[in-house]
Amino acid sequence: ILQGDAARHALSRNFSEIPVPESVLARNEQLYGERLTPEQVVERILADVKVRGDEALLDWTQKVDGFRPTLKVSAEDIAAAEIDPELHAAIRLAIRRVTDFYQKQPAHGWIDHGPGGALGQLVRPLSRVGVYVPGGLAPLISTLIHTAVPALVAGVPEIIVTTPPNREGQIHPAIVVAARELGISQLFRVGGAQAIAALAYGTQSIPRVDKVAGPGNLFVVIAKKLVFGQVGIESLAGPTETLVIADDTASPRYVAADLLAQAEHLGAEPVLVSTSRELLTQVQAEIGGQLEALPEPNRSWARDSIQGRMKIVLASDLTEALELSNLYAPEHLCLLTRDPWSLLGGVRRAGGVFVGEASMEALGDYVAGPSHVMPTGGTARFMSPVNVRDFQTIISVVGVNAVELAQIGPAATVLARAEGLEAHARAIESRLSEQD
Ligand code: NAD
Repeated sequence: ILQGDAARHALSRNFSEIPVPESVLARNEQLYGERLTPEQVVERILADVKVRGDEALLDWTQKVDGFRPTLKVSAEDIAAAEIDPELHAAIRLAIRRVTDFYQKQPAHGWIDHGPGGALGQLVRPLSRVGVYVPGGLAPLISTLIHTAVPALVAGVPEIIVTTPPNREGQIHPAIVVAARELGISQLFRVGGAQAIAALAYGTQSIPRVDKVAGPGNLFVVIAKKLVFGQVGIESLAGPTETLVIADDTASPRYVAADLLAQAEHLGAEPVLVSTSRELLTQVQAEIGGQLEALPEPNRSWARDSIQGRMKIVLASDLTEALELSNLYAPEHLCLLTRDPWSLLGGVRRAGGVFVGEASMEALGDYVAGPSHVMPTGGTARFMSPVNVRDFQTIISVVGVNAVELAQIGPAATVLARAEGLEAHARAIESRLSEQD
């Protein structure tokens, strides 16, 4: 149980120092004959895809995922995909709730016409967006919905989806059905850093996009970081994490359940901050029991996260709990306290806040409304969850008239000459002298 400065130290982090799990290095040794870091692997993949395009995509997929897929999902396969009606209805509900949420986000431009002319901002959708849907360990149907819907609401006309194929070389039919429901027809069977490279640089079959969105494992996140500039990226949403703030009124059963819901993502980091030592003890006992009741492989994944990365912190009061949470900048912040709404004003850094017992983070993963694609690794200090603005650009509009020019032009010439930019000054003066 961490306290005070030890807790502060444990919860301070720097994205560039994200620990690489031993299991990743061991697998790299198997695959590449040396313990390459994910960064070294990703650099090789990006360089190769840039030069060799589709052939490189197929070679890397063969090496890492074990087969050579047909890259593009055909229109016939999209039309024919079928799933259980209950799952289909749940997909429709999720699409509706996420769409409703983003339609409320103000996303319009403005032009202010006044006596001096007009100034404003135009808001335009991006032309083509790439959505990465993770699929290594689980087919994240919800992630497709939670990334593509804000782009669709923003008005993006063309969305390209990439996702790793399963062991049979196929995309899970529920992802295909969700794409069909969203009106997306360009789906590609490729994952990892090679998919990000394809979206960033373009290949013979995958068109280059303006922005790549969507979460993924370390390989995906590092690739997104490295291609930024060539394309836009919406955030660095990597291995998931949750920080729960709980006081003595919280149910140990719920707290344990919420921490385990995170822990079952491989590489996840669950953090519990409580003002009650007794609750911390009770939650630890609950986690033990609930963990044993989970089926495999989820139990092993959750145990790996709990034993390897879980942090338990005793805070002196809720103010300190919030201070620690803001320092950590969690992807998810869950408030399980007597009066959770009273803490909201003190939340400075988090991807999303889940207020009270009925708003567990797992609900937010699916049907609450906001996108579950949120910044991880402490990047919530400067990045936001996926939202409509990620898929638009703003264009500034300047339309001042001659009256305004006479007022503000002389100041502009003074600034231009102070910067040594004589042609700028003269361009302004040419119009000013015409008015004389
Ligand atoms: P993934 O699709 O992100 O990654 C799988 C791909 O990684 C594989 O297809 C392969 O190409 C590549 N890869 C794996 N090992 C490799 C190696 N040694 N060398 C080269 N490439 C390699 O799927 P995943 O692994 O299941 O990870 C999904 C991640 O997304 C999880 O960490 C989860 O927590 C995270 N996630 C985050 C959010 C969020 O909002 N932050 C939301 C959903 C999922």
